[in-house]
Amino acid sequence: MKVVTGEEMKAIDRYTIEKIGIDGTILMENAGRVAAKNIMKNFRRQKVCVLIGSGNNGGDGFVIAKVLKENGYEVETCVIPETDKIKGDAEYHMNIYLNSGFSFTQYDKEIAESADLIVDTMLGTGITGEIRPPYKEIFRELNAMDNFIISIDLPSGVPADESPVPEYALKADHTLIIGLPKLSYYTYPARRYYGEAKLIHIGLPQKAIDETVRSKRNVWTRKDTEKHWPVREDASHKGSHGKVGIIAGSANMPGAAVLTTAAAVRSGAGLTQLNTHKDIFGTLVNHIPEATLFNREGDLEAFIEGKDIIAIGPGLGVNEETKRTVKYLLDRFEGPLVIDADGLSGLQDSKSKIRERTHPTIISPHPGEMARLIDSSPGEVNRKRFEISREMAVDYGMYVILKGPNTLVATPAGEIFINDTGNAGLAKGGSGDVLTGMLAAFLARYENPQHAISSAVFMHGFTADYLVERGAGTETITASDIIDNLQDTFAVIGN
Ligand code: ADP
Ligand code: ADP
Ligand code: MG
Repeated sequence: MKVVTGEEMKAIDRYTIEKIGIDGTILMENAGRVAAKNIMKNFRRQKVCVLIGSGNNGGDGFVIAKVLKENGYEVETCVIPETDKIKGDAEYHMNIYLNSGFSFTQYDKEIAESADLIVDTMLGTGITGEIRPPYKEIFRELNAMDNFIISIDLPSGVPADESPVPEYALKADHTLIIGLPKLSYYTYPARRYYGEAKLIHIGLPQKAIDETVRSKRNVWTRKDTEKHWPVREDASHKGSHGKVGIIAGSANMPGAAVLTTAAAVRSGAGLTQLNTHKDIFGTLVNHIPEATLFNREGDLEAFIEGKDIIAIGPGLGVNEETKRTVKYLLDRFEGPLVIDADGLSGLQDSKSKIRERTHPTIISPHPGEMARLIDSSPGEVNRKRFEISREMAVDYGMYVILKGPNTLVATPAGEIFINDTGNAGLAKGGSGDVLTGMLAAFLARYENPQHAISSAVFMHGFTADYLVERGAGTETITASDIIDNLQDTFAVIGN
């Protein structure tokens, strides 16, 4: 499923109207009708107030008000601007609304306040810049009320793309996203304005989407994961499933090594070897007997020999040795290289070496680590996460996994795959280390690095969601719980 900007959405609409021949007024009727049906099905409310703006989004509002009234709802319809500003398809639906015997008034704070459901069709994807009067004042009033607000397509004032969210944008409780998700739904803080969101389908022709949207931003779905799931052949042996090398852990961070390695073992790697501090060998053997251990002080060349993939970073510590090791791997290791956590701080001086590698390089920063890599702030990274991850991936010719809610995977070719699994139970130390181990095993098992990466990210979040569905609280899920439940979730997806 594609994720689009406001411009791209307009292009899809234009193509549908001009090339396919569906009139704009029909699209608007569909959108309003589907939205109204959804509201009637999911929100049983007595008194509804529909707020209508001057653009196309407002046209949907007239259809919604009409359908709700025809179904017996008590609806107050309020228009924000002077009526003579309503033009085109929106005016067409305003006239149908009036001809059906319904009426509207100008916006009035008290009318909105007395409704138990407010439907927002004030500003849609056409918004540019700061919010202008009279909307600014109205949004401020609405944000101060407790009334339940459903926004249609996107919360009024929130841009569809990665532009900053203007002051006073409307905070919705629920958003019915029309047709395709917009970029801002996957950026922060914009996402917080959407409240709960649901995608509604209005029958946009696939051809219109294919012919107009050139950017490659897609949600990586369960279906995608299932489709590319590797077969573990009956007659296979451990060598068929990859030899994974992990460089992780230190005397005071043995846990990171345990989590990363156990996750790789549990995700189907044929052989997993851990390069770590010899003082913690005893601990490791107790937790992951399946992994073989390699002394950090030993010969690195011997360690990388024969490995299909190497992951470096969790629990190494930020020090000269980490830096040296990362540099060495960038120069010498011939296979997919995953760099995470402390490995990323080791990357600072040797980033440009990534461009010379002939095998995939994969980095998995959280927003703070990404900010350090590009000398920015976590807030800025979150707000422009599509742009930042894509530019970095293309610039260095690598895969960038920008973590957080809705982790993004950007490829060297500039595509972005958005993950839609996971929950706040993962917002805890250790869950990133688990992902790194999963990434290593998946990369060892798949031909296509993007399929491997996106599927690992999907399964990591899917397992957290699985635990919550079965009654676990997001407070209490641990990184180890994710590993322990991979058995179940692999069975769900892999069958
Ligand atoms: P949509 O209704 O989906 O936003 P349109 O392009 O049809 O898209 O309409 C845009 C409307 O939003 C116009 O009436 C325009 O004047 C208004 N608008 C755009 N930006 C702002 C803003 N920053 N503040 C207030 N109104 C805006
Ligand atoms: P650590 O290094 O402590 O193990 P990271 O920050 O590296 O943790 O990784 C955290 C992992 O948890 C990432 O995969 C991230 O996407 C995921 N995660 C964190 N918070 C959330 C959230 N609120 N919703 C979904 N996933 C989250
Ligand atoms: Mg981490």
